Amino acid sequence: MSLTKKILLGMGLGILVGLFFNLALPDFFDEVNSYLFVPLGTIFLNLIKMLVVPIVLVSLILGTAGISDPKKLGRMGLKTISFFLATTAFAIIIAMGTSLIVQPGSGNYSLAGAEYEGTEAPPVMDTLLNIIPTNAIDSMVQGNMLQIIFFSILIGFALARLGSKVQGLTRLVEQANEVLMFLVNFIMKIAPYGAFGLIATAVGSQGYDAFSAMLKYMLVVLFVLLLQVIVVYGSALTTLGKMSPIKFLKGFSPAMIVAFSTSSSSATLPVSMRAAQDNLGVSKPVSGFVQPLGATINMDGTAIMQGVATVFIAQVAGVDLTIGQMLTVLLTATLASIGTAGVPGVGLIMLSMVLTSVGLPVEAIALILGVDRLLDMCRTATNITGDAVCAVIVDRTEGVSEEAEAQQESA
Ligand code: ASP
Repeated sequence: MSLTKKILLGMGLGILVGLFFNLALPDFFDEVNSYLFVPLGTIFLNLIKMLVVPIVLVSLILGTAGISDPKKLGRMGLKTISFFLATTAFAIIIAMGTSLIVQPGSGNYSLAGAEYEGTEAPPVMDTLLNIIPTNAIDSMVQGNMLQIIFFSILIGFALARLGSKVQGLTRLVEQANEVLMFLVNFIMKIAPYGAFGLIATAVGSQGYDAFSAMLKYMLVVLFVLLLQVIVVYGSALTTLGKMSPIKFLKGFSPAMIVAFSTSSSSATLPVSMRAAQDNLGVSKPVSGFVQPLGATINMDGTAIMQGVATVFIAQVAGVDLTIGQMLTVLLTATLASIGTAGVPGVGLIMLSMVLTSVGLPVEAIALILGVDRLLDMCRTATNITGDAVCAVIVDRTEGVSEEAEAQQESA
């Protein structure tokens, strides 16, 4: 049986077992959860998270060093950032448009008694300046992705410039990359058990009462997520990436399932890079450049939730959003995603920044809190799919794969 099928099986069993305990044996859930489901999930999650910082460091250094032409690097950077910004803006626009038509907040909702501690968006300048670390080791200790990305790109650039002078160091980083990718493959063997544990915990601890009250909101978010994956990514893949969406889904599904189980783009990064390189034929330099960057700054699924939730909360609060406010939502949601890491639940923190920026009541987040876990799983899978689609497109349009193959053949 293929690994994807095994992970799917683990996930399916996790749903069944989680539901069984939730509905039939709720009194026993805590016990079984803390001694079986949580340990299984945590072992897998910790093992894979352990590799994130070294993989981002090593693969971005190699990615940048592998593109020795600075012009090409600049062009790739521009393409990547433009794709990220365009798909995120598109995601928020279709999310708000759909919500304005469907009106998910038109039911009987009340904000009385709702409580939620909000966070204000940091000034844009701070977010941008903060990308340059003052201590690169500290960035790695803290797992500050943007800073690690900045540092790695500079090192990679230096390696490319110094060429044969630093051959030994380049070789060392290449070999470190081999070791890390071997470990990803190795750890993925226990992914089915990890997915089982993570999903059983998530499904078993859900309060389903919240679901029926919030059904309309959830359905709108899920519908727009599907729209983004099928229509936006599907058409980008066929037209710009020259790849059939079916081939893409087949190759990338292991990463999507891991994202769904872990709710974290950062934690899924090792798996999504492996899937893009091994199954979609994306060259190492492009995958190493685009995907770590995407896992941190490109969150289309999260942006969709921001769009739907803002319109939903405005409807509940009886506020008509102006065009200016909608543009503010678009801008704040995009900027907020640059500064925040891809970890579980971070979308809610971003949402509080977005709501504050347009003067909507932050405590209204309490309404959607109960159903956010399930949506987080689905939007994380969307987030990393957007990064991989971008990697395929950049790879195909820059012809990096063919170049790498030719280099290998001549070596
Ligand atoms: N969990 C999401 C991610 O890691 C972020 C979010 O929407 O909360 O991509």
